[in-house]
Amino acid sequence: MDDLKFGTRDKRGNWTPNDHLDIAPFWRGKFSELGKFALGYVWPWNAFHMATAVLYWIFIVPDMETMKTLSWGWALWLFAANAVGVFLLFGGIEFFYYVKRKQETRFKYNGKFPSEHPSDVFWFKSQNLDNFLRTYIFSVPLWTLWEVGALWAFANGWAEWLNWEDNWLYLSMLVLLVPAIHEIHFFVIHRLIHTGFLYKYVHSVHHNSINPSPWSSLSMHPVEGFLYFSEILWFMLIPTNPIVMLFNLHSTGFGAINGHIGFDQLELTEETTMPSHAYAHYLHHKYFEVNYGGDGLIPLDKWFGYWHDGSKEADEQMKERFRKKKAKLAAKKAPTPAE
Ligand SMILES: [Zn+2]
Ligand SMILES: [Zn+2]
Repeated sequence: MDDLKFGTRDKRGNWTPNDHLDIAPFWRGKFSELGKFALGYVWPWNAFHMATAVLYWIFIVPDMETMKTLSWGWALWLFAANAVGVFLLFGGIEFFYYVKRKQETRFKYNGKFPSEHPSDVFWFKSQNLDNFLRTYIFSVPLWTLWEVGALWAFANGWAEWLNWEDNWLYLSMLVLLVPAIHEIHFFVIHRLIHTGFLYKYVHSVHHNSINPSPWSSLSMHPVEGFLYFSEILWFMLIPTNPIVMLFNLHSTGFGAINGHIGFDQLELTEETTMPSHAYAHYLHHKYFEVNYGGDGLIPLDKWFGYWHDGSKEADEQMKERFRKKKAKLAAKKAPTPAE
């Protein structure tokens, strides 16, 4: 497919989409765009995370009697399921689009592939190996730890469990709100770890991948992984059904890939593509101090002045903000004038 119909490529081979990012239409009063927005909201990613949540519930999550008691058996079983799931999803996209380079650099924001750039910041100088190992050593175990804790709480009645028959309307509304909960939680913890000490020792690990690929998605310092997956705690407070909780967990775990695909569109056939929803977070990896949240469903970035929609104007605003920040820092460091 000709990606130059949808964007431009610079001399370095970096592709930029023509369409700028927009916050959700109801915040802009564009109610005529609601239909298109709703379709993109559900399909394909949230539908995929919901489908995997239901599959887990049917085939993987043990029965409640088993989960009343903590044991290595069912915890390791869940770990294995998560590890395989991540391997298939992240590894699959990595394999076809980064190893086989199925669509070369069409729709790719950064014209280079991480494997072409060995760097000392990574374990074994390899972004891929570093990211892969951190995913499996820290993030998938932490994901499973929170999951086991939450299911154990549900099994013992410590978290309020609503059934679908009597609460289908409320639970359906809650399903629709899950991506909003995810965006708020992610924004808050992400903004927090972009401060001094936490950035330097914790979050910088994730930002070593300036040109992210699927394996970068969960490549985090364990403190970040712990905070990232703590999102499940919302469902210890909000009455829900474990399937909704799993949907949220999968949007967090499997859904981490969305921001790190590196391509704006994944070509499925000659004529059809699948949107990655990666652009906002790609810009975060490129510029660091913009777009702490997601796609603008709850536009916290816009409200706090961090929003970058990919346009030249947003670039200017960002540079102005950085200039002001620098001046403020310089003023702080300057010696106080003698009285
Ligand atoms: Zn990231
Ligand atoms: Zn960050």
